[in-house]
Amino acid sequence: MIQRSIIIMEYIDLRSDTVTKPTEDMRVAMKNAAVGDDVFGDDPTVNELEEYAAKLFGMESALFVSSGTQGNLISVMSHTKPGDEILLEKESHIYYYEVGGLAAIAGAIPKLYESNKGYASKEKIEKCIRDENIHYPNTSLLCIENTHNRHGGSPLNKDQMNEMTEVALENNLNIHLDGARIFNAVEAYNTNIKEYTKNIDSISACLSKGLSAPIGSIVAGNDEFINIARKKRKMLGGGMRQVGVIAAAGLLALKNMRERLYEDHENAKLLAEGMIDIGLEVWDTKTNIVVCDTKKIFNDSKIGIDLLAKNNIFCVPFSNNLIRFTTHRHISKDDIEVVLENIKSEWLN
Ligand SMILES: *Cc1c(COP(=O)(O)O)cnc(C)c1O
Repeated sequence: MIQRSIIIMEYIDLRSDTVTKPTEDMRVAMKNAAVGDDVFGDDPTVNELEEYAAKLFGMESALFVSSGTQGNLISVMSHTKPGDEILLEKESHIYYYEVGGLAAIAGAIPKLYESNKGYASKEKIEKCIRDENIHYPNTSLLCIENTHNRHGGSPLNKDQMNEMTEVALENNLNIHLDGARIFNAVEAYNTNIKEYTKNIDSISACLSKGLSAPIGSIVAGNDEFINIARKKRKMLGGGMRQVGVIAAAGLLALKNMRERLYEDHENAKLLAEGMIDIGLEVWDTKTNIVVCDTKKIFNDSKIGIDLLAKNNIFCVPFSNNLIRFTTHRHISKDDIEVVLENIKSEWLN
């Protein structure tokens, strides 16, 4: 637990890139943002953000939503009818971490596909799609996650995305990309975001993770989809009013904060390599997430987490054996050195 005392404690918080605080520029933009009632479509800053995002993603329209979870739920609701089956990766965020909203609210049933770090072959996906039969639910949506959180921030390249999306197109499925960290994938493969969005029907991308906005995600798709999504957002209580005060930060997140993500990737690599050098088992690290397998040193990963937490270094459990460390704007190279020193002294003695 972080000490919430008035004494400011030094700490290194690797729990998530969601802990990033707004930049000074964002604070100023928030203060000065032109606002209006966004439910009436009157907020100029929200409108600017949505237009900017649509263009950036190569989509017709975009919608500002409160969170990645809300963006995914709205997307699933907009693409499906209750009772529809949706294809989800077995460890996907939508299935694993979104409180069952797909079932409880969208009324969709999940069919899980296995993958190699988020990538599933055409054959694998084809096997999950049902024929027409009076007994069967309709399979109407394929969801893809890039970068894939529970696979250690692993990015899909454009060929993998193309293979996965083409099989969905051939079978008349809609495609939703959970791109909470899509710009980390863009950075990892030095590709263009439009390479990832060209075949898909919708994307949800977080502004509040590595991009450092305090709140919010963007959903993008065609005009028809976004019109439906806007209404679903209202249904979920997500119609917000003078929300330009937040959108102003989101706009700067998209404009200015993508280009620094390579620093997070470098620091993650530094951490992963340092761990390997001292004999730890670490997953392949391609973006800003480092997953350490501690089964050889602890029978519960919580022990390793607590040992670091007493020195004000914070990380999260990923399973009984796995610990996740996420780099972000507030983590420096020096911090990585400190973390490695602490791991050496706390874990390996
Ligand atoms: C964080 C995350 C989300 C959800 O975002 P919130 O803003 O925390 O609701 C969705 N998908 C993936 C892959 C994520 O990592």
